[in-house]
Amino acid sequence: MPLTNFNKHKTLATLITRTLVWVITIFTVGVLIQSWHLSRDIVQEEVKRTSRQTSSLVHNFFEYRLASLQILQDSNAKSDTVENFFNNHDYRGLDYFFLREDNLEPIHSPDFRFISHLSDVIWDDGNALFYGLESSNLTELFHKVDIHSNWNALVTDSQLGLKHTLIRRTPIVQSESGEVLGFLFAGVILDDNAGLLANLLQGSNSDDVILRFGDKFIASTISPDDNYTVQSISDLIYSGETDLSKLLITETNLDVGTKQNILTIFSVQRNPSVLALRNSYLFWIFLSLAVITTISFLTRRWLNRKVTKELSELMVYTKVAVSQDRVEKFSGSSIHEFNHIGNTLSNTFERLSEQEKLFQDLFSFSLSPIIVWTEKGTILQINPAAKKTLDLFEELSQANSKSFVSFINQMRPLVLKASMGATLTGIDVPIGEKVYRWSLSAIQTRDDSTLVLSQGQDITKLVEAEKQSIKARKEAEWSAKARTDFLAKMSHEIRTPLNGILGISQLLKQGGDDGKYQEQIEVLCNSGEHLLAVLNDILDFSKIENGSFKLEKHNFKFKEVITALEGIYRPLCDHKNIELIIRNDLSVNTALNTDQVRLNQILFNLVSNAVKFTHQGHVEVSFTLEPEELNKAAGLKIQVEDTGIGILSNQIQQIFDPFVQSEATLTREYGGSGLGLAIVKNLVTIFDGEIDVSSEVGRGTRFEVILPIETAIGLAENNAKETVIDFNLFPEAVKVLLVEDNHTNAFIAKAFCEKYGMDVIWAKDGKEALEFLKTMSFELILMDNQLPFVSGIEVTKQIRNTIDKTVPIYACTADNLTSTRQAFFAAGADFVIVKPIKKKSLYEALRHFKRYHYYSACEH
Ligand code: ADP
Repeated sequence: MPLTNFNKHKTLATLITRTLVWVITIFTVGVLIQSWHLSRDIVQEEVKRTSRQTSSLVHNFFEYRLASLQILQDSNAKSDTVENFFNNHDYRGLDYFFLREDNLEPIHSPDFRFISHLSDVIWDDGNALFYGLESSNLTELFHKVDIHSNWNALVTDSQLGLKHTLIRRTPIVQSESGEVLGFLFAGVILDDNAGLLANLLQGSNSDDVILRFGDKFIASTISPDDNYTVQSISDLIYSGETDLSKLLITETNLDVGTKQNILTIFSVQRNPSVLALRNSYLFWIFLSLAVITTISFLTRRWLNRKVTKELSELMVYTKVAVSQDRVEKFSGSSIHEFNHIGNTLSNTFERLSEQEKLFQDLFSFSLSPIIVWTEKGTILQINPAAKKTLDLFEELSQANSKSFVSFINQMRPLVLKASMGATLTGIDVPIGEKVYRWSLSAIQTRDDSTLVLSQGQDITKLVEAEKQSIKARKEAEWSAKARTDFLAKMSHEIRTPLNGILGISQLLKQGGDDGKYQEQIEVLCNSGEHLLAVLNDILDFSKIENGSFKLEKHNFKFKEVITALEGIYRPLCDHKNIELIIRNDLSVNTALNTDQVRLNQILFNLVSNAVKFTHQGHVEVSFTLEPEELNKAAGLKIQVEDTGIGILSNQIQQIFDPFVQSEATLTREYGGSGLGLAIVKNLVTIFDGEIDVSSEVGRGTRFEVILPIETAIGLAENNAKETVIDFNLFPEAVKVLLVEDNHTNAFIAKAFCEKYGMDVIWAKDGKEALEFLKTMSFELILMDNQLPFVSGIEVTKQIRNTIDKTVPIYACTADNLTSTRQAFFAAGADFVIVKPIKKKSLYEALRHFKRYHYYSACEH
C-alpha cells in the first residue's frame, strides 16, 4: 500500500531498525575495544617478560661462554706442555697439545690463541690467520691488552678489515720456581663468527641476533630471505618505533673489562601472539558486522511485516475518514497502541462528523441569512434563509437580478476588509423594501485560506422605530421650543396690558382722594403687581430654558441688597407678626462685582417663600463671605432660615422642579406658580454656585446658597434715599414726541408726562415720528424699541443722521440687556429707560433730561 510522504519521512521500521543497529554496533564495538585493551595489556606484559628472559639468556650465555673459555685457558696455562715449551721450545708439541684440547672441548675452545714472552709473541695456534689476523695484528693486540682487566674488547685492522675481538691473558708460571714464563692469550672473534652467532641464537631462543660493538653493527644472523635487514632493524632501534605486532627486539648490553656496554646484542623475535591477537580481532569484527547486518535485515523484515502493515492500515483508515464523508468504525489492530489510537481516532471522527452535521443543520435551518464568502468577495455558500432574503430562485452562478448585483456590490468591499482580519458589526444594507444588519468576520480554513462569514438580521422594524424616535424627539424639541416661545410671547403680550392696568392704577392712586376708591385701587394695584411678578417668573424661566439667559455683572455696594431686603420684607413680616432677623458678616462698605438683579432674585425668592410659609416665630437671613482659596473664588454664603410649616421629606427633592408645589392644596392657600425655586436653582447653576435645603415639617426650613463672587473696590458711597417725586420739574411745558406702537403703553406714558406738564405728541411708528420731526420741533423724544417695520434703534439712527443731531432721544426698552442699551447709545440715544415705565423710573429720566438738556436748550 503506497503511503504518502514516505520519501520525506522515515518509516517506523527504518527508525526502529536503525536504532537497533546503532545500539548493537555501539555495544559490540565497546565490548571489542574493552577486550582489545585487556588482551593488549596482557600481550605487552608477556612481551616485556620475554624481553627480560631473552636478555637474561644472552647474559648467561656470554658469561657461561667466557667462563668456560677462562677455565680452559687457565688450565692450559698450568699444563706441563705449556711450561715445558719455554724450556724446550717444542712448537710442534704445543700445537698438538692445543689441537688435542680443541678436539676435546670444541665448544669451549677460543677462536685463536697465542703466547707472549717478554714483549714478543712467540707462538700462536695459527687460527688467527683464518680471521685475517697476522702476527703483527697479534702483537698489536698483545700490547693493547690491559693488564688489569680480565677480558678486553679490542679492535685491530686485519687484512680482512677491522676485527673486533675479546681477548684474555693468563700467566704461564714455572711450577717449581713460581717464575712467570710468559702469557697465554685466548681470543674470540666477534665479526661474522658463525659458531658464536649460532650458539647465541640457540642460547637466547631468538629468530635472529645482531651484534654491535660500540656503535658499529659487526655481525648478524639475518639472511636475505628475511623480510627485514640489519639496516631496517637498526632504523627501528634508533627511532624507538618498534612495532610489536611485527617484531620483538631485545637489547642486551654487556661490559667487557673496564669498557661498559661495549658489546650490545639485539635479539630479534617474531611476535606471533600479537599477530594472532590482531587476526582474532579482525575475525571477530567481521563476524560482528555480519551478525549485525543479518540482525538489521531480519528486524527490518519483521517490522515491515508486523508494524508497518498495521500502521499502514491505521493510516489508510484516517485518510479515508478525512477524505470521505462517511465515518466507519476502526477494524482494530493486533498492536495494542495502534488499536488504542485507531479507536480514539474513530471516536473523534464520529464526534466531528456529528458536529459538522449540527453546524450544517444550523446553517441550513437558520432563520437569519448566512453567507460564506471567499477572500476575493465571491459567494461560496449561501443558506436557504439568505436565498430567500435575496429572492434567489435560480442557481448562484445565474443570479443577476438588480437587487442581487447591488447587494454584492455593497458587500464586496466589506468582505475584503473582513478578510484582512477586521471584525465588522452593525453594517446596515438595504435589500429591497427591507434593511438587514450584517456582521462579518474572517474564518481560517484547514488549508490555511481565509473565508468570510457574514450573518444578517432583519432590522427593518428597528430602523423604522429609530426613525420614529428621531422624529418624536425632534417634535418634542420643537414643541418644547414652541412652548418656551409661546410663554415668552404670551407673557410679553399679557405684560403690555398689565402695564396699562398698573400704570393707570398708579395714576389713580396719585390723583384721587376718595377713601373708598383708594382701597379698591390699592387692591387693583397689588393684584397687578402680583400678576406681573408671576409673569416675570414665567418669562425668566422661559429665558433660562431656551438658554438665552446671561449674567450682567457690574459693581455695586452689598449694602444695597440688604437695604432692599429690609425695605420689602420688614413691613411684610411686621404685618404677619413674625420677626425678621438679618445677620450680615460682610463689612459695611463691601462692594461686589456680579449680577445684582439676579442675586436679588435668588435672595428675594427664598425670603418671600420663608415669609409666605411662616406664621409665627422668625425668618432669619444671614450673609457670610467665605475667603478666597487656592483655585477657588470667594464665596457669598446666604442662609435663609424660617420657623414655618416645613417640607415633607419625600418632597424635598422635587421642590426645585418647575411648577412643583409640595402640596396641591398649598397653591390655593398660599398662591404662587411653583416656578420660584426652579428659577433659583437655575440661577445658582448659572452663577456656578451650590444650593442646599433641609427641612422638618412643622419646625421650619433652611436654604443655604453659596455663590462664587468677585469683590470690587473703590465704589462711591451711594446714598439711596426714598425718592420724593416733584412733578413741577419744568417751568414751561416741554414739547415731547412719544414714539410707541402700543396704545396702552402710549396712553400711560402720555399720562405720566402730562403730570409733569409736558406737551406730548404721539407717533405710533418710526415713519410717523420722522414725519412729525420734519414739520415740528421737539425738546425731547421718547423712543420705544419694539416698533413695527423699523426698530426704535434704527429710527434713532435715522433721526440722528438725517434730521436732528441734537434733540435728546430717551429710549424705552422692555429687555434690560446691555447689548440693547449699547445699540441705542451707538445709534445716538442719550438715555435708556427700562420699561414698564413707572413713576420712579420716569422721574429719574426726566431729572436727567433736566440736568443735561433742558437748561442748555433754554439757554439756546
Ligand atoms: P411657589 O411659587 O409655589 O412658592 P416655589 O418654586 O418657590 O413655588 O416653591 C415650590 C414649593 O416649595 C412651594 O410651593 C412650597 O411647597 C415649598 N417651599 C418653598 N419654600 C418653602 C419654605 N420656606 N417653607 C415651606 N415650604 C417651602
